[in-house]
Amino acid sequence: MADITIQNLVKVYPGGNERANDDVSLHVADGEFMVLLGPSGCGKTTLLRQIAGLELPTSGAIAIGGRDVTYMPVHQRNLSMVFQSYAVFPHRRVRANIGFGLAMRGMSKAEIDKKVDWAAELLQLTPYLDRFPAQLSGGQRQRVAVARAIVVDADVLLMDEPLSNLDALLRLSFRAELKQIVNQIGMTTVYVTHDQSEALSLGDRVAVMKNGRITQLDNPLRVYSHPANTFVGGFIGSPPMNFVDGVVHDGQIDIGGGSFRAPEGAEDGRYTVGVRAEAITLGDPADPHTVPAKVLVVEPLGSATLLTATVGEHSIKVQVPADTQVAAGDQVKLSVPPSAVRLFDLDSGEART
Ligand code: ATP
Repeated sequence: MADITIQNLVKVYPGGNERANDDVSLHVADGEFMVLLGPSGCGKTTLLRQIAGLELPTSGAIAIGGRDVTYMPVHQRNLSMVFQSYAVFPHRRVRANIGFGLAMRGMSKAEIDKKVDWAAELLQLTPYLDRFPAQLSGGQRQRVAVARAIVVDADVLLMDEPLSNLDALLRLSFRAELKQIVNQIGMTTVYVTHDQSEALSLGDRVAVMKNGRITQLDNPLRVYSHPANTFVGGFIGSPPMNFVDGVVHDGQIDIGGGSFRAPEGAEDGRYTVGVRAEAITLGDPADPHTVPAKVLVVEPLGSATLLTATVGEHSIKVQVPADTQVAAGDQVKLSVPPSAVRLFDLDSGEART
């Protein structure tokens, strides 16, 4: 096991003039599960491929377990990798697929069998050990790829969208299993995804990337509740955070069409005001600062109901309990708890609270 230290990494692809990674520094602790999250093209895969040694940096440095690996060939880095496509050998049975890395390391057959049996058990592949990959479902093939990756005593496990070829249900169940397995073996892991719910559910920490840079590095709860900027607030969460322009004055926020209490210590000025849909409640009689709103759309989601409402010029999302009696066209009063309000710089979008 080992930690990973990435310092001032810059990657410009040959012929490209954009920086696919732009001054990225990151420390992944020994045993940590780090998720790289961001929209398509933000540079997640590029970063992972440089840790793997599949791409070389333009400048900067990478160390694994204190060893400088920046220009070291892939096979000397002692890594395991799982990619989006099921990278299994079609002409080898599951047992040989899982044991492949061990055989390459010259381990005895008895030792290989023991380890393969252990990994197969962990990934529920025991009944399939004698099958060929073509005789497996997509989910099972991806399990083989994961089993092969965890069976070797690698320093680091790298995964690039390993669940993205699975259907939605399988994806959810395998996600929880993957978390349990990686927790159990305690491997230092870097995991790439563009799926925010996957990132929040799996990561000890999440590095949110934008335009080749890490724009926020935090634990999942913090990334969700305290986005470092409007980009993160808008990218994470379903629905994304509500944003409206507002003016803070004397402890109140005026958003035109209504006002509510500002968070403690907020300085007077103009801001982009952010609040999550589920933090807003309907008509709290104890709140003297409710905001009048008109309900436009009511969407029952099963576990909750999502409202689209207008406040003055603004359209905002409000998530209420599923049994709330509310219909399109209703006039309602919204309560916005000050502790849930985030203020962002109007120009840069950076968090101010
Ligand atoms: P996705 O989720 O779509 O895979 P990503 O966040 O992983 O996206 P990268 O694949 O790292 O993004 O790409 C980052 C940038 O580098 C993009 O602008 C992409 O077009 C560019 N890029 C990636 N690979 C190459 C390459 N081999 N040659 C030139 N440019 C590349």
